[in-house]
Amino acid sequence: MGHEAIGIVEAVGSDVRMLKAGDLVVMPFASSDGTCAFCHEGLPTACVHVQFFGNGGDMDGAQAEALRIPQADGTLFVLPVGPDEALMPSLLTLSDVMGTGHHAAIVAKVQRGHRVAVVGDGAVGLCGVLAAKRLGAEQIIILGRHKDRIALAKDFGATDVVSERGQEGKARVMALTGGFGVHSVLECVGTEQAMDTAVAIARPGGAIGRVGVPHYESIPGSLPAFYKNVSVGGAPPRFVPTSPGCFPTCSRAAYSPAAFSTEPWDWTQCRTATAP
Ligand SMILES: [Zn+2]
Repeated sequence: MGHEAIGIVEAVGSDVRMLKAGDLVVMPFASSDGTCAFCHEGLPTACVHVQFFGNGGDMDGAQAEALRIPQADGTLFVLPVGPDEALMPSLLTLSDVMGTGHHAAIVAKVQRGHRVAVVGDGAVGLCGVLAAKRLGAEQIIILGRHKDRIALAKDFGATDVVSERGQEGKARVMALTGGFGVHSVLECVGTEQAMDTAVAIARPGGAIGRVGVPHYESIPGSLPAFYKNVSVGGAPPRFVPTSPGCFPTCSRAAYSPAAFSTEPWDWTQCRTATAP
């Protein structure tokens, strides 16, 4: 069980060049070679050699005392910190939920000054709030109904809370946004109702970043999305935004700016990477 992890490298295979024993590393839920066309385009979950941890076969789950990591150079990222226990829970979010929330914000085209709605108050939704805040959103509406999570969302930067669902919830968002809806919707649930709500509350020309694994066959709200020019995108996160020539020489992969900067993600910090 378990498909993401943080840990210490115990030993490396003879082909591994980027890692050494003792490194503190973070691991996403999929292994990737870091060298194919899709890895170079920042889509390691579409790597031609992708394998998902905890899905059986050779790929054990991460809730183990030790784990063998195939394609280690392309899969693991060294964190430039010591094993500081106080920081570990935050760093662990980079193995999945923070990368996913950030990806939702990027696909939803969150920009400085924009209005954003986050559908879902689970771990990914809360990280989506953080990501939207980091990217400069002015209004962040969290759609959720769990008291403790809502409190966290407010700490993370949510400016409004909508706990109603269905028509009532949509109407509340429209009322909070001058009747036009939001520029960006981060759909972090995956149900048909969540997607239907996302389409309804997106303003014309807006974008939806969906990262909740869909529990529906076809995207609801296709007709309103069409007439409103709303784009719908998203899937598993782009964990490793590299560009041709960047990997494996690049030492500043996705995690370091996301983890350690409070500024919007500055891709120029990477020597050779290009923005996704
Ligand atoms: Zn690849």
